[in-house]
Amino acid sequence: MTNQLENARQRLVETGQKLYAKGFLAGSDGNSSIRLPDEQFLITPSGLAKGELAPEDLVLLDSHFVKVEGRYQPSSEYKMHQFVYSNRPDISACVHSHAPYCTAFATAGRELPDNILPETVLFVGRICLTEYAPPGTDAVAKTLKPFTGENNAFLLRNHGLLTIGRNLQEAFWRHETVEHFARIYFLACQLGEVGSIPKEDFQRLTRMRNSMQATPDNPEPKPK
Ligand SMILES: [Zn+2]
Repeated sequence: MTNQLENARQRLVETGQKLYAKGFLAGSDGNSSIRLPDEQFLITPSGLAKGELAPEDLVLLDSHFVKVEGRYQPSSEYKMHQFVYSNRPDISACVHSHAPYCTAFATAGRELPDNILPETVLFVGRICLTEYAPPGTDAVAKTLKPFTGENNAFLLRNHGLLTIGRNLQEAFWRHETVEHFARIYFLACQLGEVGSIPKEDFQRLTRMRNSMQATPDNPEPKPK
């Protein structure tokens, strides 16, 4: 467990650095977490810049999301993470940021279509636009409830982007993929009508995603 915990700390630190380097976070924005094998959770702290975290800044939580270890308070959005983990036993990581293109669509109340780019169909699936909820409240979980059953990406209305995965790498790749797509879609919309993937290929890609998601063993990769 010690090695797994240290690995998880390092991976969350690296994820914060990557999100910050990509311009997805300002100030103390964003939060990420990992489900550990013994049903404990590691989450980013509240009020710190996520691009500058040290491994010991992360907060260890028990199965009820009560703090076990850490000098800071857990992210104020911990209830959102708790809701995802309690409803999706297949999911072991959550990544939340205010990635600008996704947040622009979420703020405009514009859904991102799921049938435009093959990568989005294959690796993400539907990108769900939720109702607005004040960040850090129980209401966030309520707005996710209609969508969490089988989806992996959520545009939080007037707030930001949440992606989830079987490990942190998958959750982060989905995060990157959705923001990259939002940017491309925004640009394509300036050019006029945007084409979609033919229905038959959309169905083929969806079947491929479902078969990949059904793979149970997807361990956390080692830190670099
Ligand atoms: Zn946020």
